[in-house]
Amino acid sequence: MANLSDISVIKDIMTRHGFSFSKALGQNFLVNPSVCPRMAEMCGIDENTGVIEVGPGIGVLTKELALRAKKVVSIELDERLPAVLKETLAEFDNVEIISGDVLKTDLHKLIAEKFQGMKVVVCANLPYYITSPVIMYLLENKLPIEALTVMIQKEVAERLCAEAGTRNAGAITVSVNYFGQARKLFDVSRGSFMPAPNVDSAVIKIDIKKEPTVYVSDEKKFFKMVKAAFSMRRKTALNAISAGMSIPKDEVAAAIEKSGLDLNIRAEKMNMEELALLCENL
Ligand code: SAM
Repeated sequence: MANLSDISVIKDIMTRHGFSFSKALGQNFLVNPSVCPRMAEMCGIDENTGVIEVGPGIGVLTKELALRAKKVVSIELDERLPAVLKETLAEFDNVEIISGDVLKTDLHKLIAEKFQGMKVVVCANLPYYITSPVIMYLLENKLPIEALTVMIQKEVAERLCAEAGTRNAGAITVSVNYFGQARKLFDVSRGSFMPAPNVDSAVIKIDIKKEPTVYVSDEKKFFKMVKAAFSMRRKTALNAISAGMSIPKDEVAAAIEKSGLDLNIRAEKMNMEELALLCENL
């Protein structure tokens, strides 16, 4: 079995397939041999699990997932890579590569077709340029998945794993807190990749809850309010929500007071219950 985290093996594959890294597609391949087995061990899979992987690259993580799961379906946007993966994953009959953009893939359909009767998780080393959109796509689509284990930029990981109501929180923190429970598994230094990016990374796991953390009667309105509230971090929630949702200030102020909150409160000071209550009163 070729060692896909060995730089000379990667270079040989690249030369033979005429492949060069695409910066635009966020191609930083893992060369630290301990990272992929660790991710695969910690993402919650067993021999009855189906795994969705985003961006297999040349298959270094895919291989570790295939060794442990019942089935792996990997979605790769770079049309040059399926030919490489056919070679590097030749020994596995439980891996399927789908060519395309994860953000344009109907994942409900994919899960129904490919993972019947299986528990499903997502495990991926995500390209930096679409980390948040991919995580939001996976969460907001309400997929029948148990957990997302993803490698992302370290600063983003800290934001995602923060609690709503704390300094590090942003709109995406609230979304993650709403749908699940996130925790950091381990850090990964920039030197673990080829080519090395300018930032360090971390692997996080988001366990998806069966029911959202708080009740809101109108989810669309809730996320619109959250987005507005966090969009202007120096402003009070009152000003930011009023401007972002085009609601007169006195109406927003009345809702804030009715929720028992200070009129000068900022979005990052509000916990999940307070945000939900404010949305109901708005
Ligand atoms: N899994 C490999 C590894 O760990 O070495 C590669 C990870 S690399 C950070 C990200 C991968 O995602 C690349 O293979 C890239 O081509 C792919 N990719 C980029 N945008 C994508 C998209 N929108 N949908 C699916 N794959 C994408």
